[in-house]
Amino acid sequence: MPPARDDAPSTAHPPAAWQVALPVPLARLFDYCPPADARGPAPVGSRVRVPFGASGERIGVVVGSAPIPADGTALKPVSALLDDAPLLHGELLDSLRWLARYTHAPLGEVLATALPGPLRHGEPLPDTRTWAWRLTEAGATALDGMRAGRPRQLAQALHAGSLDEAVLDAVHDGWRAAARSLHGRGLVERFALDDCAPHTATGTPPAAPGPTPNDEQQVAIDAIRGAAGGFAALLLDGVTGSGKTEVYLQAIADCLARGKQALVLVPEIGLTPQTLARFRARLGVPVHALHSGLSDGERARTWAACLRGQARVVVGTRSAVFLPLPDAGLIVIDEEHDGSFKQLDGIRYHARDFALVRGKALGVPVVLGSATPSLESLHNATGGRYAHLRLTRRAGRAQPPRVRVVDVRKRPLTAGLSPELLADLGQVLQAGGQALVFKNRRGYAPVLLCHDCGWAAHCTRCSTPERGTPMTVHGGGRRLQCHHCGARRPVPNACPDCGGLALQAQGAGTERIEEALAERFPDVPVLRIDRGTTQRRDALEQALAGFGDAPGILVGTQMLAKGHDLPHLTRVAVVGIDEGLFSADFRAPEKLAQLLIQVAGRAGRAEKPGEVLLQTHHPEHPLLATLLSGGYAAFAAEEMEQREAAGFPPFAHLALMRAEAKQLDIAHAFLRASREALADAAAGAVELSGPLPAPMPRRAGYQRAQLLLSCPTRGPLHAALDTALPAIHALPDARRVRWSLDVDPVDL
Ligand code: ADP
Ligand code: ZN
Ligand code: ZN
Repeated sequence: MPPARDDAPSTAHPPAAWQVALPVPLARLFDYCPPADARGPAPVGSRVRVPFGASGERIGVVVGSAPIPADGTALKPVSALLDDAPLLHGELLDSLRWLARYTHAPLGEVLATALPGPLRHGEPLPDTRTWAWRLTEAGATALDGMRAGRPRQLAQALHAGSLDEAVLDAVHDGWRAAARSLHGRGLVERFALDDCAPHTATGTPPAAPGPTPNDEQQVAIDAIRGAAGGFAALLLDGVTGSGKTEVYLQAIADCLARGKQALVLVPEIGLTPQTLARFRARLGVPVHALHSGLSDGERARTWAACLRGQARVVVGTRSAVFLPLPDAGLIVIDEEHDGSFKQLDGIRYHARDFALVRGKALGVPVVLGSATPSLESLHNATGGRYAHLRLTRRAGRAQPPRVRVVDVRKRPLTAGLSPELLADLGQVLQAGGQALVFKNRRGYAPVLLCHDCGWAAHCTRCSTPERGTPMTVHGGGRRLQCHHCGARRPVPNACPDCGGLALQAQGAGTERIEEALAERFPDVPVLRIDRGTTQRRDALEQALAGFGDAPGILVGTQMLAKGHDLPHLTRVAVVGIDEGLFSADFRAPEKLAQLLIQVAGRAGRAEKPGEVLLQTHHPEHPLLATLLSGGYAAFAAEEMEQREAAGFPPFAHLALMRAEAKQLDIAHAFLRASREALADAAAGAVELSGPLPAPMPRRAGYQRAQLLLSCPTRGPLHAALDTALPAIHALPDARRVRWSLDVDPVDL
């Protein structure tokens, strides 16, 4: 037993149990005895290792204290306290508690989601100091007598002053080996740069000046500046290329000048090396990135650097919304309408919505930028809850693209491309231009069909007799692949039903379009960009760089819709959007309009004027007509009326219970019982629909159904869930199905 320290007399804190949130699917906390050497109150926000279950251990987070049971029930003791200082505390812990309540998920699972993998698994908070090297006295003396070579070069460089490792990485090939050799002889030494001076000696070039803001940009910058120091939500509604990023950069520079941290959330495909380079060049401080391409270790380091206040600017994708921000000054959400901000499994949070919650708790402005704002955000702007800042013109000298609709009814199509479109591409190339052909379907062809008997290749794990799920043809026509469950098989030589040899790939995906264009335009490069060709982030960058400014054609899916500035792109051709015009999903029109505007925005980003060709079988469809005559704002106004009339968000709040099982009966029985529990709890205040088949009624061998909850206001919806969920968890069928609850679902 260690002697009691005089600064923590045991009488000041009556013995209390530590309340621990564990990442287990149980909506409760777990009490443990403090470890024997513990002093003082429960270390809220620190991680602990605790015994759990028969013989297991878990890593959890201390979230409070509880009285030791008076009845003598023995609590197990905490095995180890893992942190000297809390990781999750203050605002972040409070916001995460809110998120657990809002998503109706166990707090322990929410906290585990917020932590990067290594921290979740109990590893120590990584070292985030910047290390540098300097010459020792012995080194300075020995310099003149050294033989030529890398060690001498390094010693010479260090003679002029110490250098940090980032600089050495950038300018001295093989410096690590040289440093090791010098270090072995006591000629150089490594030291950590001062934590408090993150801006010095880091090898970041000084901030480069940006363009002078135009009037609209200035109004936006001033509005954000005026909001500094308190919470405000500002919707930056600016057409593509209007200079939204310039506005963010100015606002971030202001924030840095006030000594505060800035967090920028971007869509998964928006976080390109190009974006980061632009931020780094303009801000003159290290810019940390957080995205799925990083190793777990790198993610943990960025997290730790934020916690310690060393990271001043972070640009990250969805999960960056969980970064600790002890000196927060500003949160920016670029492309706030983007679907990738919603997490679709586990804790189903929306990074935009959670960022607003954090902004409020932190007392900092939150800027939501988009050329095509979500109807939710527009509704908040119209209702006066968000400031509405508009950028109506393209910045610099770029002109908005012209849009031309190509009616392809009855036209002969080559890989889905009309003769008019091909002729137009020919003219663009002739004139030395570049074109983008956009088709939101990867693979070679969407369907493989037998011309003799009508058999079509379906996925055996996803299809039902009533509803087939075609397999997509890939690999230049040799392979079948299911985009829903990932199943693959070779294309059969003959039809499995009739033995005929007339198997035909129907329709066109990006692969087939690429093939057709390469055949038609053999003299120019045709480059395909989709998830199939660019698994790695920098592969896309390199491919685009190799494309240069000579004539050529890009073929791609929505991976190409944003992020990359392609200054020589003068033509965008959009094909195969017709199925989106007739989708059952109430969000489909919004998604399609956003996609069309974003893709069109790729054209004419620089000084060359751009034109968009929209190929469709439905040229007079109201969505296209409105979009073409009035732009996104006109579309959004009409769509808003439809949503209101139909009682959909933003005029209603939804929650979706999904259930899947090998047998449909079981999924249905569970959802019916859940429905009863919810109906009792809601007493008529919440509208319940279902159980209904899921949009994919069968996937990977599981039968899937869902129950939709809808309510004009949030209160009764959450109250009903709070009341009914314990009973739903306790249903016997709850163990026989895989089920989940999704508050504010984006795909119904
Ligand atoms: P957005 O984020 O709205 O798509 P960007 O900020 O990327 O727009 O700006 C589009 C292009 O216009 C960029 O090349 C940017 O450098 C340039 N730009 C932005 N603002 C100005 C300005 N005020 N004057 C000149 N060029 C500008
Ligand atoms: Zn056949
Ligand atoms: Zn499948």
